[in-house]
Amino acid sequence: MDCNLTGKTALISGSGRGMGRASAEELARNGADVVINDIDEAVAEKTAADIRDLGVEAIGVPADVSDEAEVAAMVETATDELGSVDILVNNAGVGDAGPFLDEGYDGTFELNLDVHLHGALNCTREVVDGMVEQGYGKIINFTSIHTKNGVGMSPAYDVAKYSLLGLTKSLALELGREGIRVNAVAPGWANTRLTEGFSDAVTEQILNNNPLGRFAEPEEIADAVTFLAAPASDYVNGHELRIDGGQVPIDSWRLDS
Ligand code: ADP
Repeated sequence: MDCNLTGKTALISGSGRGMGRASAEELARNGADVVINDIDEAVAEKTAADIRDLGVEAIGVPADVSDEAEVAAMVETATDELGSVDILVNNAGVGDAGPFLDEGYDGTFELNLDVHLHGALNCTREVVDGMVEQGYGKIINFTSIHTKNGVGMSPAYDVAKYSLLGLTKSLALELGREGIRVNAVAPGWANTRLTEGFSDAVTEQILNNNPLGRFAEPEEIADAVTFLAAPASDYVNGHELRIDGGQVPIDSWRLDS
C-alpha cells in the first residue's frame, strides 16, 4: 500500500495537541513536510519542533481558523516556506457544547459553527486554488461520532459537524475533476483533553456502549487520516471513514446535568 508522502506538504489545523498532533506526526513519519497550526502558539511551536526531529520540515503557524485574515496569512507563510499545500486536514475544534435549554447557551452555536464549519471553509478557500493549479489535492475534514445519529445535549456541536459532513460531500462532487479528493474521518471518543475531563459516570456510559470497551488512541485516528492523505486512497472520494470502535451513539451529556 502506497502511503509515501515524501515531497508533499500537509497543513493540519489545531495540530498542537490531541488527534491533530497525532495526525501531523503520522503524516511526517510517512515523509510529509507539515504545517502545524493552532490557536495556541506555544503548542504549535513545540509540536513543530518535536516533528522536525523526525527528519522532515515542520513549521508552527499560530492562527485562529475562524478568522479569514489570519488564515490567509497562515497559508501565505506556509506556501512561502514549504511550497503549496497538497494535503489539508481540517481538525481544529472546540468541545464547548451543551443543552439547548441551558441558561449559558448564548453564543454556543456561533462558536461551534465559527470553528468547525467556517474554520474549515477558510482553510479550504485559501489552499484550493493551489490544488487546482497543480491538479492534485487531498482534503480531510474531522467530523465526529456526532454525525452517526447526533449525541444528545450538544446540538451546536451536532449541527456544526453535520454541516462539515455536508461540505465534505458537496466539495467531493465539485472538486473531483480537479484531482482533489475530499473525505472525512469520524472519530469516536479518544484519549484527549476532552475525555480526560469526563466524569466517571460519563466515561462508564460511553464505554458500556462501545463494543471494544475503550476509547481510541489519537494514533488510531491518525492512521485513518494518513490513509486518506496517501496515494493508496486516490479512488476514495466523498467518504466518511468512522473510527469509533463501533460505538453505539448515546445521550452521554444527560449524565452531567
Ligand atoms: P481533540 O480531541 O479534537 O484532539 P484537542 O482539544 O486535544 O481536541 O485539540 C484541538 C486543538 O484545536 C487544540 O490544540 C486547540 O487549541 C485547537 N483549536 C481550537 N480552536 C481553534 C481555532 N479557532 N483555530 C485553531 N486551532 C484551534
